[in-house]
Amino acid sequence: MLRPLRLSQPTSVTEASAELARFGDEVKVYAGGTELILLLRLGLIHYTHLVDIKRIPDLGALAWDGTMMHIGGAVTHRHLERSAEVAEHLPLLQQATAMVANVRVRNVGTLGGNLCFGDPHSDPAPVLLVYDTRVKIGKHSGGRTVGLETFFMGLYETALEPDELLVELQVAPLPPGVGSAYLRAARFERPSLGVAVAAAQHDGQLIDVRLAVSCVGPVPMRLHALESRLEGATLVEGQRIVRQVQRHYEEVLQPVDDLHGSVAYKTYLTGVLLGRALAQAVGANGRE
Ligand SMILES: Cc1cc2nc3c(=O)[nH]c(=O)nc-3n(C[C@H](O)[C@H](O)[C@H](O)COP(=O)(O)OP(=O)(O)OC[C@H]3O[C@@H](n4cnc5c(N)ncnc54)[C@H](O)[C@@H]3O)c2cc1C
Repeated sequence: MLRPLRLSQPTSVTEASAELARFGDEVKVYAGGTELILLLRLGLIHYTHLVDIKRIPDLGALAWDGTMMHIGGAVTHRHLERSAEVAEHLPLLQQATAMVANVRVRNVGTLGGNLCFGDPHSDPAPVLLVYDTRVKIGKHSGGRTVGLETFFMGLYETALEPDELLVELQVAPLPPGVGSAYLRAARFERPSLGVAVAAAQHDGQLIDVRLAVSCVGPVPMRLHALESRLEGATLVEGQRIVRQVQRHYEEVLQPVDDLHGSVAYKTYLTGVLLGRALAQAVGANGRE
């Protein structure tokens, strides 16, 4: 059962943040509510106030400015999935978004909520990491912009202060000629493992390689050291490298044994999916 809650519906970020500051530990931001209301109903979290951010006009906006997409903090998965501009400029985000849950969840669940919840089992997170996404954060006394990599701080932990909101995601398309792929393994409702890859080939060598992995460890991550190793390799060499570096995945991603699989299984599958996604990204057959 839900306990009685006071709901405020501010119409600006300043007002919403002031409410968060005013009620401190007793208040939480409410977007689609797919995570929040479930946890409140189960009695796993307790708040007396919710700040509904869906009446803040900027947070519902989705706009292409000619160089990048601006995705408001309360834009739903469904809005993204159905947007012609997202399909044109950020096709990988559109693909990953369409894989989230089911239409009911995508209709109300927001991309901002997905990221702010900090669950590592996120489909859009690795894709947004590959797009080098920036996160605009707002509060009553100003704002700041951080890279998505620094936004994720730990399991269910983000860089947001209690009185801050995720206002907007700024996502630039991949450079011309760079292909991309998102692959996931899903045994339960949410993904058990997701990999996003962007890469191109020049004279038979891999260039502009970007790799990101979600679900394996506590936070979705870019694999920068591995990206550098793949630069200049052939596709076959690159696929061999990503298959071989399971120890590296263990050290960097910090997986644990859980319902989604053992550490050995997760690191093995990371290599397999990265190899396939690499091939897909450069337009080759996905199988080694
Ligand atoms: C049955 C089910 C299946 C799912 N399957 C998948 C899946 O396959 N893949 C996947 O990636 N995800 C999956 N999800 C997760 C889903 O993507 C998220 O539940 C959804 O996107 C969260 O958005 P929301 O708007 O409902 O967030 P809410 O529940 O409203 O909020 C979630 C958290 O984020 C905070 N928050 C929300 N917006 C902001 C903001 N703008 N600024 C600051 N804090 C904010 C809230 O305070 C709360 O702590 C699934 C969820 C469910 C319930």
